[in-house]
Amino acid sequence: MTGHDRKIIHVDMDAFYASVEQRDNPELRGRPVAVGGSRERGVVAAASYEARKFGVRSAMPSVTAKRQCPDLIFVKPRFEVYKAVSQQIREIFAEHTPIIEPLSLDEAYLDVTENLQSIPLARDVALAIRAKIKEVTGLNASAGISYNKFLAKLASDHRKPNGQYVITPQMGPAFVEALPVAKFHGIGPATNAKMNSLGLYTGFDMRNQTLEFMQANFGKAGAYYYWISRGVDDREVRANRIRKSVGAENTFASDLTEFDAMAAELQPLIDKVWRHCEDKGSRGRTVTLKVKFNDFEIITRSRSVPVAISNRSELERLSVALLQAEVPVPRPVRLLGISLSSLLGSDEEEEPQLGLPI
Ligand SMILES: [Mg+2]
Repeated sequence: MTGHDRKIIHVDMDAFYASVEQRDNPELRGRPVAVGGSRERGVVAAASYEARKFGVRSAMPSVTAKRQCPDLIFVKPRFEVYKAVSQQIREIFAEHTPIIEPLSLDEAYLDVTENLQSIPLARDVALAIRAKIKEVTGLNASAGISYNKFLAKLASDHRKPNGQYVITPQMGPAFVEALPVAKFHGIGPATNAKMNSLGLYTGFDMRNQTLEFMQANFGKAGAYYYWISRGVDDREVRANRIRKSVGAENTFASDLTEFDAMAAELQPLIDKVWRHCEDKGSRGRTVTLKVKFNDFEIITRSRSVPVAISNRSELERLSVALLQAEVPVPRPVRLLGISLSSLLGSDEEEEPQLGLPI
């Protein structure tokens, strides 16, 4: 099914980790809470709404957060609890549709065009889901309802917290027109800078370009931008999507044994992985190093961080640390690889087409 005849809901829990902590510890309720980090080091993984009023945001260094909000309470993350709540939420989604595409523990796209309870309006499905989530978990969720994924995701932010918003096919194009390019889901800082250098600052600017212009400047993604700037996005909601990863590897002309030489060889791999993330606007939490020795034995070593890696130097630091831990190497190394997984962000773009009403 394509075009305007689909009903897509993007459900997004409000301040998820922080809300779970406030639910489970009454002393934290109504107070500025940061999950992750500490007074001295690390970064904030999630902030309660009380903390956000002070400008505290996820991925912010704890030291900065503490400066902006001196009363900020740092709480250790409990991922096992978040995963269990996430499972409860997915079970609620599954009462309405089997077409569920989780984006992270607290966010998912649902295709409710044909929903299991035969509720005619998608906005009523969203109300039912949010009420059930509240009843079962005690937590608030927001929802965006529209005829495609791109607009549904935009809509879920519109009435946060604890709200929902519908973008109809009539509203879609105007909604995108006013949107700054940087706010387009899937446009990272690198693409944003390039758009700006071409005089493209909003959806309206993008919309004034031809398909040829967009493709010439942005390759395959150009067609996607061309269509979303018109409110058109025909990517399907993909159930049971496997975790994506992006990686690069290289086999060397001669085997390596020295740390410095191997670390130098990691650089172009890190560049390649990071460029892909920038292009796609996607972010990952798990770095994996692959080492193949001269006897063809392969080992992999991974490290996960609680907050998505937000810059190249962090990816480099984690990659080099993984390599460092394997030195001295037991045998000469013929191949090294770096990959980043648990990616959040835009999916590969599919060819969009025009279509019809929610
Ligand atoms: Mg959320």
